[in-house]
Amino acid sequence: MNSEQFKELKDLLSHPRRIVVIPHKNADGDAMGSVLAAYHLLTKMGHNTSVISPNDYPEFLKWLPGSDKVLKFDSQNIQSKRKLDRAEFIFLMDFNDLSRVGDDMQKTLEAFKGTFIMIDHHIDPKPLTPFLFSDTKVCSTAQMFYHFLEKMDAIHFIDENMATCLYTGILTDTGSFRFPTTTPTTHRIVAELIEKGANNSEIYDQVFDQNSYHRMQLMGSALEKMVVLPEFAAAYMTISKEQKSIFNFQKGDTEGFVNYTLSIKNINFGVIFIEDEDQDMIRISLRSKGSFSVNQFSRNHFEGGGHNNAAGGKSKLSLQETIEKFINLLPQYKNQIIDGYKF
Ligand code: 5GP
Ligand code: MN
Repeated sequence: MNSEQFKELKDLLSHPRRIVVIPHKNADGDAMGSVLAAYHLLTKMGHNTSVISPNDYPEFLKWLPGSDKVLKFDSQNIQSKRKLDRAEFIFLMDFNDLSRVGDDMQKTLEAFKGTFIMIDHHIDPKPLTPFLFSDTKVCSTAQMFYHFLEKMDAIHFIDENMATCLYTGILTDTGSFRFPTTTPTTHRIVAELIEKGANNSEIYDQVFDQNSYHRMQLMGSALEKMVVLPEFAAAYMTISKEQKSIFNFQKGDTEGFVNYTLSIKNINFGVIFIEDEDQDMIRISLRSKGSFSVNQFSRNHFEGGGHNNAAGGKSKLSLQETIEKFINLLPQYKNQIIDGYKF
């Protein structure tokens, strides 16, 4: 978005509007933190604002201020469609392609006649709206939203609730400020968010230290079954539907597991394969260190995408066939994986 477009958007939002804010399906901390920060901002500005999530999101995000207001498109379909029908503006946050909300919601959004505003940081945004505010170098959509507030002259609106939501988005998408996308600017913003009331220690506790015993056991099982392939500097984990059932799987329980692959010395590429019996597919999370792009790997082979070092994907093959497909791909990427990262 250029300065003319920001001026235009400021004019458009200068009187009360009906606005819906949407994260991607299976929303994470950045998606929920960003949409709820936007909810608080737009409500404060006097707009009639709703948040509609395509589906449910993990328990460890439900303490976020405003979470009680979130509608779920799949389980609260009629109410959600009514809101979308009446909306004049829709904010799309933390995704850049309408397919990321799931089939039914995608159709509803494709029929929308109003104005989309997209705030994101993923690679290759789809040209959906002139109001596209995206930078793939920025660590999180939450940080993008902070820059959006700067451009809209709206920083003064940041209160404790907004600061808490934005802090959560930045915290989760930077792997607690450790990924290379974390910059001095990120830390300056985070410092300001703490000054505005974000309680960093409490937020960490809410997000990371409220595990169920079952989740820890599921993690133990996943770690035990992890396969390391040193010749490719790669490792993978699997979660089968049997493991899910033994450990009473709840949505969000596998969040972050994949990062443990990269905590092994000399492993630059890590993947987790999760059997999703409801959707009849294998959900895949991919992570890398260095220049080997899991975004490209997933786009090429697993119908997904994301960032260079963190991406998602899926497979319609069985768990075993998916793993075989993955292992068979490794020789052709071996050099990129190994040479892509030198500490
Ligand atoms: P995760 O593995 O945590 O689900 O996703 C890693 C990153 O890739 C996140 O930023 C997520 O939004 C993005 N991502 C996950 N799945 C997809 C996908 O199918 N397509 C695209 N473009 N991005 C994805
Ligand atoms: Mn994000």
